[in-house]
Amino acid sequence: MIHFDNSYARLPKGFFARIDPTPVSDARLIALNAELAERLGVDVDWLRGPDGVAMLAGNALPAGAEPIAQAYAGHQFGGFVPQLGDGRAVLLGEVVAPDGVRFDIQLKGSGKTPFSRMGDGRAWLGPVLREYVVSEFMAAMGVPTTRALAAVMTGETVWRETALPGALLTRTASSHIRVGTFQYFAVRGREDALAALTDHVIARHYPEASGPLDMLDKVVERQAETIAQWMALGFIHGVMNTDNMAVSGETIDYGPCAFMDAYHPDTVFSSIDQMGRYAWAQQPQVAVWNLAQLATCLIPLMGERDAAIEAATRSVHRFAPLYQTAWLRRFGEKLGLSDAGENIQPLIERLLTIMARQRADFTRVFRGLADGSARDEFPDPAQFDEWVEDWRSFCPDDNVMAKANPLRIPRNHRVEEAIESAVANDLTPFERLLDAVIHPHEDRPEWSDLASPPRPEEIVRQTFC
Ligand code: AMP
Ligand code: MG
Ligand code: MG
Repeated sequence: MIHFDNSYARLPKGFFARIDPTPVSDARLIALNAELAERLGVDVDWLRGPDGVAMLAGNALPAGAEPIAQAYAGHQFGGFVPQLGDGRAVLLGEVVAPDGVRFDIQLKGSGKTPFSRMGDGRAWLGPVLREYVVSEFMAAMGVPTTRALAAVMTGETVWRETALPGALLTRTASSHIRVGTFQYFAVRGREDALAALTDHVIARHYPEASGPLDMLDKVVERQAETIAQWMALGFIHGVMNTDNMAVSGETIDYGPCAFMDAYHPDTVFSSIDQMGRYAWAQQPQVAVWNLAQLATCLIPLMGERDAAIEAATRSVHRFAPLYQTAWLRRFGEKLGLSDAGENIQPLIERLLTIMARQRADFTRVFRGLADGSARDEFPDPAQFDEWVEDWRSFCPDDNVMAKANPLRIPRNHRVEEAIESAVANDLTPFERLLDAVIHPHEDRPEWSDLASPPRPEEIVRQTFC
């Protein structure tokens, strides 16, 4: 059984559309996250059984579920769209875990909703598996993120230029409230709704916050931490539109996301990001831009207008120093130097410059510092050798390094390989990759190939959502 509580569905009219998932013809459970189910207090055997699978496929609703599609707006690549909303997802409800923590349970790919516009409301297997693997890796590395509870194949065909197998992802999140949720009401001049949404977010995510400004401060703080963690893993979100930024600070909406193999700050994978707006090195600035949109929405709730604008601006500007501190801490740890402070910034930047020039593998360089194998990642190691001498003089701590630097990431070519095999009805590569990346520090011989960079012919240059 599963017990839902639906605090979002109790919000005023206009926050969502009540809509049931569309049933599918032939549901087949292909992945179930038992560890996460336990964390939620949901019975794993029930989830795996016929009633659980029917729920995960959208074929049956357990008592207490009240599925809704959430309304939101958003800036997509800088252009404002006043109405987006869940076009292919429904929030089944919220589950309160045994420790009192509340989680959204959302089906993604569950059929059309009033927000579907031209879309079919469905997802195909590829993005479902990518989100599963990548979000679970992020969770394993301690990055705030939505998580994957289950994946189901629908037995139906989805058309994306070609015929592809349909699938659904069940994801959990501390909420699915986005910057774009605030924008939805702000653009409509709905101050009552903005106030209700703010109260809901404060109660749910920031109970210690005294009001909208304090809430904004806390969103800024969480985002600064999260983005610094992305950067430290070489993660590129790919679609940092305001509708894809959660006010909880969790990483949300894994579309054409990817991790870099060879390091370069301008790296972009998403096929739809032709200007490089969301390139690796752009992500902190984009976060500030997005947070400025959130701040703009909150100004009407913050009293006298000029003073409110000034306070909101100050709040958003706090991102830069907070991010800088978080970045130094994260990259410091990657070098085995915790609490080293600003004096190590030139050291970090020098290494990144050498890596970019020689397109050294991001993950392998950091992971290989402890045992000296990092040197092999540089075609011309002279500058790196000099750097290593300087770095050693700081007395790095191997244990700190080992924790901060994963042995394996979900490399693009491995994700693509897992998807291709799954489409051909073999889930073994997906299962192996998942197991290996959710144990990112475990050095097992049978996983050694998954730590290798792609051979030239295996390199993936573009990802699609
Ligand atoms: P995303 O790029 O995933 O952030 O999605 C942007 C918007 O498009 C959201 O409102 C989605 O719900 C909607 N959307 C994406 N794919 C589909 C689809 N296949 N059917 C309906 N709506 C979709
Ligand atoms: Mg989205
Ligand atoms: Mg998406």
